Amino acid sequence: MKEVRVRFAPSPTGPLHIGGVRTALYNYLFARKNNGKFLLRIEDTDQTRYVPGAEEYIIESLKWCGIEYDEGVGVGGPHAPYRQSERKELYRQYAEQLVRDGHAYYAFDTPEALDEMRERLKARGVATPQYDLFTRNEMCNSLTLSNEETERRLNSGEPFVIRMLIPENEEIKVNDLIRGEVVVNTSRLDDKVLYKSDGMPTYHLANIVDDHLMEITHVIRGEEWLPSAPLHVLLYRSLGWEAPQFAHLPLLLKPDGNGKLSKRDGDRLGFPVFPLRWTDPESGEVSSGYRESGYLPEAFINMLALLGWNPGTEQEVFGMDELVDLFTIDRVGKSGSKFDPEKAKWFNHHYLSALDNSYVSELLDKQLAEKGIKAEKSYIETVVGFTKERAVLIPDLWEQSWFFFRAPESYDEKVVQKFWKPETPALLDRITALLRETSDFSADNLEARIKAFIQENGLGMGQVMNTLRLSLVGGSFGPGVAAIIATLGKEEAINRILKAKEALA
Ligand code: GLU
Repeated sequence: MKEVRVRFAPSPTGPLHIGGVRTALYNYLFARKNNGKFLLRIEDTDQTRYVPGAEEYIIESLKWCGIEYDEGVGVGGPHAPYRQSERKELYRQYAEQLVRDGHAYYAFDTPEALDEMRERLKARGVATPQYDLFTRNEMCNSLTLSNEETERRLNSGEPFVIRMLIPENEEIKVNDLIRGEVVVNTSRLDDKVLYKSDGMPTYHLANIVDDHLMEITHVIRGEEWLPSAPLHVLLYRSLGWEAPQFAHLPLLLKPDGNGKLSKRDGDRLGFPVFPLRWTDPESGEVSSGYRESGYLPEAFINMLALLGWNPGTEQEVFGMDELVDLFTIDRVGKSGSKFDPEKAKWFNHHYLSALDNSYVSELLDKQLAEKGIKAEKSYIETVVGFTKERAVLIPDLWEQSWFFFRAPESYDEKVVQKFWKPETPALLDRITALLRETSDFSADNLEARIKAFIQENGLGMGQVMNTLRLSLVGGSFGPGVAAIIATLGKEEAINRILKAKEALA
């Protein structure tokens, strides 16, 4: 059997949308599942839409997600180069071959002539005027000009494009692995430009030529490309090539299901639509990313995998290897998937809680380093053990644990009013003494001793525990009081109690 070869072929026109990441992911999973190859090709033939930094952004995003490619920009491979602008010379011969074989033609129409044509058609009541079998005969092209005139124009360097000559009234069948057979009548198609006056191919030509030369067996891409598929099938046929299998993935929808989740939805809906933060090179506008917002790539990938594909069971949590194992195209749905930002958080919380303390402690350690705080690895691991389950996003690790690294600078006014009584300082002195004489500083032992102290002295549990907690962390949050004392250690815990006594005196 032929080796499976798939590609992700983004255009560097801006940051990669999460829908694009999903397309890359499904291609990757499909390749791995079938022991095939996954390629990254950069489709940058539209120079007017080129955005600096976008290509680097795409590559960094795939890297962050753990979506590795076997061939492509940055890694090379047998079909290099993988950047279409560097393959420019290659496309013209295929455009010319199509003209020679009667599947395409030269067109010399000026932009003004094209505008006039559209106006003329609109006046005749045509809703979507296009260059097609009804109009091409009224235009300036190698079909209407004599051979000599066409030659003369080409030789004199007059600007031209090459257009596809769409055959009349033919049923084109696209066999889609997700949608089944899609049939389109060619009379509805326009004579798309294949080769532009700037010497660059258009997306359609370059895409087909490269998919053929790069031996792509399956084209897995977004639904927005389905309308182009009949033209692509026609191009393969006209060039005498076998077409790959197609699979058009369902759209990602806004959370309310109303329409496609677009790049412009950005932070407008309160969640990122890009994997990484992006700063627009022109406007300087910043769009947030999953990475910078504190998501783990594992959680992000797990969430994306389930937006369009389902395993056929109730299982929701999948690592990349497991996804590779289970992924099949026939479990990709036809209808759009609503993006659910709460589910994204749910996955992140799940992964943060499930990851081992040593891994999570590295995440917290990075945040500590940014704040200039140094701590022992074992200490950070202990802290993470209490706090990771309370964290939804990575920055929450700090929010939930800062008091293990810094003594409180202030004390919550409400808690002070409720629990700080005239007799509190004397009570704290007795607890300090108790801590001093305790040698087994485990949380369990501390808990038992403090409880016994409270009972023996007929004190209120809430009263004692709340004032103690207030002195240690400055408020009414955090894990159990005994666990906090045990983790801080004798000296630090006693210092904090003394400091609170002084501050609140
Ligand atoms: N360059 C196209 C894009 O930006 C690729 C479409 C395809 O996969 O054929 O999405």
